[in-house]
Amino acid sequence: MSQYQNILYRAEGPIGTITLNRPESHNAQNIRLINEIDDALKEACGDDNVRVIVLEGAGRSFSSGHDLSIASADKDSLDTYEDAYYQRRKTPETLFDHEAEIYVNRCLAIRNAPKPTIAKVQGHCIAAGWMVASMCDLIIAADNARFANPVARMACVGAEIPVEFWDLGVRKAKELLFTGNKIEADEAKTLGMVNQVVPLDELDEFTTAMANKIAQVPPVTLKLLKQSMNRSLDAMGQANSFAEHFVLHQFGHQTQEFKEFMGGRSDSSVKAFVSRRDKATQA
Ligand code: ZN
Repeated sequence: MSQYQNILYRAEGPIGTITLNRPESHNAQNIRLINEIDDALKEACGDDNVRVIVLEGAGRSFSSGHDLSIASADKDSLDTYEDAYYQRRKTPETLFDHEAEIYVNRCLAIRNAPKPTIAKVQGHCIAAGWMVASMCDLIIAADNARFANPVARMACVGAEIPVEFWDLGVRKAKELLFTGNKIEADEAKTLGMVNQVVPLDELDEFTTAMANKIAQVPPVTLKLLKQSMNRSLDAMGQANSFAEHFVLHQFGHQTQEFKEFMGGRSDSSVKAFVSRRDKATQA
């Protein structure tokens, strides 16, 4: 059914479903998984029978973010497919192009897909997990969904796209990015970043019903409606916001703080490094 390794894709009636399928790592996004989402997206967009695309995660979570082994000093854990991209992280120039291509452009392909997209989120939706979910037109969350972007603690200037600002508004976005705190599904709904919250065991059924309802709208109408909404976001400055953030994010990867983090985590785990650094900075 599926030629993919790290995702699954299935088309049932008018619904094309892309499943992030690395449940053992809470669907941590390695390069293959990201590229396969892109391939499946093209497959769904090219299939006239598919009118709505659902993005979901297998297992307990939607996605825990980027697979950090891609940036790890421990290259033994990478296969050759991942390693080709790892090599591109080694200079500022190639890192910029690598992240623009794999992280930003792959996300924007979801954002700009000519068919409506629904992210179906349970469990962890962290950092780049949130970034991907946020590219979808709607987010349906299970009651156990939680959203956070704690990467500032890893000396990262957010993820590659500043979705928190657009999803939450500036005040709450700053709080979450500065503290790394999480928000639960109900609060996310109150803040307007998710459309609906449903019990976990009703998530599949609810999302399918929503997708079927949307699929009743003729496809060109849906495409134009989506374009209208997205062009309004562009007019509000979203495209510039994304571009400005990405440059700052890239500069952040070249700072001494980031190099210290990368050096520290290669000697110990991320958790151990951060807790050592935390102890040194507490009043
Ligand atoms: Zn980055």
